[in-house]
Amino acid sequence: MSELTDAEDRIAGTWWTKRKTPAMTRGEGCELIDEEGRRYLDFTSAYGTSPLGYGHPELVRAIREQTEELSACPSNLYSAPRARYLERLAAFLPGHLTGVFLCNSGTEANEAAIKFSALATGRSRLVAVKGGFHGRTLGALAATWNPAGRAPFAGLLHVAEFVERDDEDALARAIDDRVAAVLLEVIQGEGGVHSLAAGFLEAAQRLCRERGALLIVDEVQTGFARTGCWFAHSLFDLEPDLMTLAKGIGGGFPLGAVAYTQRVADALSSGCHGTTFGGNPLACAAGVATLDVLERELLDGRAAELGAVLLGALRGRLRNVAQVRDVRGRGLMAGVELRQRVGRTLAALTEEHGILALAAGPNVVRLLPPLVCTEEQIERVVDALAKALAS
Ligand code: PLP
Repeated sequence: MSELTDAEDRIAGTWWTKRKTPAMTRGEGCELIDEEGRRYLDFTSAYGTSPLGYGHPELVRAIREQTEELSACPSNLYSAPRARYLERLAAFLPGHLTGVFLCNSGTEANEAAIKFSALATGRSRLVAVKGGFHGRTLGALAATWNPAGRAPFAGLLHVAEFVERDDEDALARAIDDRVAAVLLEVIQGEGGVHSLAAGFLEAAQRLCRERGALLIVDEVQTGFARTGCWFAHSLFDLEPDLMTLAKGIGGGFPLGAVAYTQRVADALSSGCHGTTFGGNPLACAAGVATLDVLERELLDGRAAELGAVLLGALRGRLRNVAQVRDVRGRGLMAGVELRQRVGRTLAALTEEHGILALAAGPNVVRLLPPLVCTEEQIERVVDALAKALAS
């Protein structure tokens, strides 16, 4: 404890080191363990980054072996782990997305997608959806709804117009010949676990095509089995021009990607974008191991089945709880909307029940469990949530 407290004092001003929670020192399966040995069932998967939980032996082995072999490689040189990862990733991508750029995070993937859409269209404006979250770099932030995040940068960001969720008329008004891209999440995560309507999504695609804009689908949170299928947009009649990925694809290791069509690829020239760490050997080894386990253990189907268990249990147990306004979600991405702010409920879950859950906006409890969680763990979390809301 004292070591960390000293460090905190030395780097006062770096707000994220301020100690508000116990220090986590180990992870095993779906559990985090703090410095005093207390165990927490992590139904956040570290913000959705760890679909295989913590310490998965195959992932650990892949990272260890790659570290021993080659941990860094200049990105202008051919790298076998990168080639292996690209080949592996390509096998999962929709056939029309033939280009891939690798990076390290979700915001970088969206930033690249925004730049690529500008190059491919010769335009710069964005259309985004209220409640959407795309990251904190300049372009991604411009398209992120939360006004608190954008306010300090008012007047300094890319131009983005926000439309209400599922308002097709607003979309039709917003997409004009200055718009490079519509950027959206098929199921909004940070914004409160809201699925966008099929009609709205399909209208976005149609209007983009008619008016020369591109459709960027942000699958940073929903991608790679989280919602019970490889990509949430495949639930609809959608063929996005660009798709962005991050979070779970590295199994907890920083890894992001943007996949795009040939039309976009044709607009890119060598040097128009780049990265030092993107596609590094360790991230790619982690990415290959993650995809191998996700595929072999059929974790997409498992997320669909366990998701039905989770949503069914939440709906059943919370049906008569006065504070609960709605339960929604898909696969292992669930939101419980309360009639009050979520802070006390999240604190009670952690302190009284040893369970970690997330907020999605002010009044939604979000659950993003590892895809390897068990039915028993789901029951435990639902039971604890019911008790936390009753107390
Ligand atoms: N897009 C979505 C849908 C997200 O949920 C997030 C992060 O929560 C991001 C982008 C940004 O990702 P990162 O935090 O890796 O930059």
